[in-house]
Order: sequence, then structure tokens, then C-alpha cells
Amino acid sequence: MIQPRRVVNSLLSDAKQTRVTGLHAECIDKGKTVETLEADLVVDASGRGSQTPLWLEGLGYEKPAETSVGIHIGYASRLFEIPRSARPDWKILGVYTQAPTSRKYGVIQSVEGNRWLVTLAGNLRDYPPADEAGFLEFARQLDHPELYEWVRRATPLTPIATHRFPTHLWRRYEQLSRFPEGLLVVGDAICSFNPIYGQGMSVSALEAQALQEYLSQGAQGNTRSLWGRFFKTAAKIVKNPWMLGTGADFLYPQTEGERPLGTTFLNWYTARMYRACDSDPLVATRFYEVMHLLKEPTAIFNPGVFIRVLAGRAKPSPSK
Ligand SMILES: Cc1cc2nc3c(=O)[nH]c(=O)nc-3n(C[C@H](O)[C@H](O)[C@H](O)COP(=O)(O)OP(=O)(O)OC[C@H]3O[C@@H](n4cnc5c(N)ncnc54)[C@H](O)[C@@H]3O)c2cc1C
Repeated sequence: MIQPRRVVNSLLSDAKQTRVTGLHAECIDKGKTVETLEADLVVDASGRGSQTPLWLEGLGYEKPAETSVGIHIGYASRLFEIPRSARPDWKILGVYTQAPTSRKYGVIQSVEGNRWLVTLAGNLRDYPPADEAGFLEFARQLDHPELYEWVRRATPLTPIATHRFPTHLWRRYEQLSRFPEGLLVVGDAICSFNPIYGQGMSVSALEAQALQEYLSQGAQGNTRSLWGRFFKTAAKIVKNPWMLGTGADFLYPQTEGERPLGTTFLNWYTARMYRACDSDPLVATRFYEVMHLLKEPTAIFNPGVFIRVLAGRAKPSPSK
């Protein structure tokens, strides 16, 4: 049963605090009355703002360690009417940064109702402005002029909406030695990524699939706790997208956070790969397949791709 319009505000546990047995939730429509819901398993899928670390402390457990990488990215989005005269040869037009020299991104996506959804983004506090003139000027400063040329002729339909996102954040539940039975955490509540790489939903879906498999197997004589097994699997799912996303952000010397071993080589290779993506469809396809978890990261180092990356062009062009 789905219970909408409830805000979970604490966990229920047994007397010894070794097992979570349910939760308390505030009912938004009933004058904030608090309901008690009992459960065999509570799964925290409440996203980046998850309260589980605090609730764990309240039950006498350690909070998970956190790894964070500061990228301070900001978004500004607006819907436009597609001009009658426009005959673009693309459905999505993207202009990406040429790290580490530029920090601005722009994407136009064709959406229903003859509209373009135009999103501008800038990292390391190069936030796109929410006013009309500033929005257009930011688009004009992208590394390639095509996006600006389309947008400046289109009619705005909505105000400009903005959003800011400070850090990649990974809560290391897999490193804990104690954790209550009857409780798990999934999705952004474990790890929230820089949204620009579009990885969060895929990672959350893979974790949900892993959880389904564990639950359908039952204990099957396994002596290790469900939380121990699940968090180890979730960490394996997170590891590669984390390495790729943070690795791309570490191309900027200003990115905050501890650089893992091998970052210098990875930065050198990634910068060349971005340039090759501009002109080489095979390299671009491999790059997106790896970023979107369809292939292992080793796919961007196989000899066929490696040689083309080394031969990549220096001039940027938009992705279509
Ligand atoms: C600007 C932006 C762009 C993105 N673009 C992409 C993209 O292109 N591709 C991609 O894969 N990912 C993208 N992501 C990431 C993606 O949105 C997340 O990875 C994904 O939504 C995580 O799902 P989740 O269910 O773990 O958390 P969420 O989607 O955050 O859902 C958590 C839910 O829990 C509810 N909740 C929170 N606290 C409580 C509480 N105490 N009680 C009850 N309910 C509660 C919230 O209201 C929310 O509905 C983007 C993220 C952002 C911010």
C-alpha cells in the first residue's frame, strides 16, 4: 500500500535497538498528526536529504563516513516556443565545457507542444543568471555559438527556473561494522552525483534491482546480514560512475576533494577524449555508453578507441 502525503520523521526499533521495526510519519493533510507504521523492512529512498545518518546516531550507531567532491554547479532552465522558420537538423543540441578552460554548458531539448526546453549550467559557481539579459549573455558565452543563435530568435514561454547543486556526495554505508537489521538505504540517499552526467537514475535503478534480487532469494542459508550484503553490492554499483563523474570534474584544479591515485593520467586522457568526441562518433558513442553505465569503463581504453582519442581534434563543436 502506498501512503501519500506523509513525512517520515523517525524510526521505530526494538527494545535492544538492534532491529528497526517501522517508522513514524507526519500526515500532511491531517493537521500533522503522527502515524505509526510497522514494517519487516524499512527502505530509505528519501534522496540526498536522507535523515538516516541522524536516526542511526539516535539509535546508538555510528553515522556513515561521507566522501564529497565540491563542484558547485548551477542550472537555469526556460521553455521557448520553437520559431516557425526553425528547421534544425537535431532533436537535442548540447554544448559542453572544454575543461579546464571553460565552465559553461548549454542544452536545447525538443519537447511536446512545439517547445524547446533550454537549460544552461555552469560549474564552480559560474552560475547562469535568472534574468533575461543575463540568460542570453551566458548562452552567448558558450564554447560554440550555435545554441545562442537558436535561442535568441525563440519566444520565451515561462520564467527562468534555477537550481544549485554543491557536491557529489557518497555516504559510505558499506564501511560500517554495525547497522540495525530491518533497515536499508538506496538511491541518492546513498550517493548523489553531479547531475550533469545523468547517472543518478541509472544507479538508483541498478540498486533497486539488486535489492529485489536479494529479497527474492531470501536468506538461503546466508549467515551475513542483508544490510552487509546489500551495501557492499550498492558500493560496487556506485564505484565506476563515481570514478567517471568525479574524474571528469577533477579536470578543474578548483574542484574540491581528495584526488584519487591516477587522477593526473585520467585527466589527461579524459580531456583528449572530450575533444575526440566532438569529431568522432565512435569515441562519443563509447563515452556516453560508459557514462550511462551500458559498458564498463575499460571500454574507453580499448585499442580502437585509444588510438582515435590520441588523434582527436582540438576545436569544439556542439553535440547533436
Ligand atoms: C537538476 C538535476 C538533474 C538531473 N538529471 C538527471 C539525468 O538527466 N539523469 C539521471 O539519471 N539523473 C539525473 N538526476 C539525478 C536523479 O534525479 C536522482 O539520481 C534520482 O532522482 C534519485 O532517486 P531517489 O529515488 O533516490 O531520490 P529522489 O528522486 O530525490 O526521491 C526522494 C523522494 O523522497 C521524498 N522524501 C524525502 N524525505 C522524505 C521524508 N522524510 N518522508 C517522506 N518522503 C520523503 C522526496 O519528496 C522525494 O519524492 C538529476 C538531478 C538533478 C538535481
